[in-house]
Amino acid sequence: MSSRYLPVENPTKSFWLTAEDEFSTYRSSSKLPREADTIVIGSGYAGTTFTYYLLKENKINPSSILMLEARNVCSGATARNGGHLKPDLYYSHKKFSAKYGAKGAAEIINFEHAHLEAMKELIETEEIDCDFVLTRACDVHLHPKSVNAAVSNYKSMIKNPYVTCKKDVQIKFGEQAEIISKVEGSPVCLTYTAGHLWPYKLIVSILKKNIEKGMQLQTNTPVLSTTKLTDGRYLVKTNRGEIICNNLDIATNAYTASVEPKFEGKIVPIKGICSHITSSDPNKKTPHLTNTYGIRYAGADGDYLINRPDGSVIVGGAKRHIFPFKQLFYDVVDDSTLIPNTKEYFDNYMNDRFYTWKGFPEVADYVWSGILGYSDDSLPYVGEVIGDKNKFILAGFHGHGMPRVLLCAKALAQLVSGKKKWLEIPSAFKITEDRMENTKNGILISLGTPSNDVAKL
Ligand SMILES: Cc1cc2nc3c(=O)[nH]c(=O)nc-3n(C[C@H](O)[C@H](O)[C@H](O)COP(=O)(O)OP(=O)(O)OC[C@H]3O[C@@H](n4cnc5c(N)ncnc54)[C@H](O)[C@@H]3O)c2cc1C
Repeated sequence: MSSRYLPVENPTKSFWLTAEDEFSTYRSSSKLPREADTIVIGSGYAGTTFTYYLLKENKINPSSILMLEARNVCSGATARNGGHLKPDLYYSHKKFSAKYGAKGAAEIINFEHAHLEAMKELIETEEIDCDFVLTRACDVHLHPKSVNAAVSNYKSMIKNPYVTCKKDVQIKFGEQAEIISKVEGSPVCLTYTAGHLWPYKLIVSILKKNIEKGMQLQTNTPVLSTTKLTDGRYLVKTNRGEIICNNLDIATNAYTASVEPKFEGKIVPIKGICSHITSSDPNKKTPHLTNTYGIRYAGADGDYLINRPDGSVIVGGAKRHIFPFKQLFYDVVDDSTLIPNTKEYFDNYMNDRFYTWKGFPEVADYVWSGILGYSDDSLPYVGEVIGDKNKFILAGFHGHGMPRVLLCAKALAQLVSGKKKWLEIPSAFKITEDRMENTKNGILISLGTPSNDVAKL
């Protein structure tokens, strides 16, 4: 175990965390219990939804489930992300079909697409107030290489007979692409169904429901190590004492190496930056855009944004100021600081890109950092840890957790509770010996360096 991978103190404040209240430091009891049946590490999207589905199965006494959280409630990536529930329906198709075959690639695409309905159902069933909006994503490609990659991935995806949601994607060129996207000089745009929401509110609502059912939560209790005992149980060491459990569920995403050394170098913490942009004049309503966006420039350079129902915008990216400086973002867990020039990147951002915002007084009132858990082969690791019975991992969402976590959490809960005998997730997400031993870390190669040859804006 390495303390170098633990979440740091004093993280930057995200816009989403303006919803924080006294619940953020919740502890079910002043002292830690000495034993629990099940310990879940991490109170983000993964740990919380996993526990929600585990409780639904009614197989375990709720009060014997203990969640341990290193910092305040849901203070990791889930509280710092772009709020963008956007399945990748085409952009990775050629890469995935070359590696996993047409069926394997389709499994991933269909699974991500299924999150739209699953999320809507969850939010409506539980009556969760989290500004959820179902809309269309609009991908804008501004560099010839990105345009070519988008078109050829789209063409290859629509030929895949196993992709069931292909008709949801529409491609537009030329003037129509500019008018639909509202981005001048956009030669192509692709639109498809996506959603956006307030992730912190979603997770806190579910956590409170879990607690009402009896689950125990201990915040500001980092797990320092776990040891398998001779009887097969696990000894979990924290800064506040030790606990013994039968089942261990690790939902620590970018920080997984802090509790599970086997994942050092397999799930790598990557620092990212996000912002909140709104009107700087309280009397003026923003020119609201209905789509969400992915904007690609050259190489790995790109931004993503959602248009919130209150008219404000969340933009993530600034990658041209991040990726050239490996020591500032790669293998970094420090979300207490920004990265040079990223704050300024969001000044006048909407005016510079969307012609409907031209001349509108805008301000980036929140800019924050967060830690993404990139995996060596870009896919999450979900399932039982090889050689460690009853120890499970649900992590490595590669900066793209919104359309991946929920149904992985549900499938893992059904496996752990005994409801299902197998994990109903894309095969490529499962933990296998081959994946653990033979995957070459492709993170830096896939990120490349955003070239200076960025599109004129
Ligand atoms: C800046 C940024 C922008 C993003 N934008 C998007 C987006 O728009 N769309 C999208 O799909 N995805 C996005 N992501 C990725 C997405 O947020 C994640 O994939 C998702 O939130 C992962 O959820 P999680 O619960 O696995 O991780 P987290 O939310 O990070 O939760 C893990 C929890 O474990 C706790 N923990 C860690 N180590 C320990 C320990 N040793 N002991 C106890 N507790 C511990 C942490 O404190 C944390 O609360 C973004 C991420 C970032 C950082």
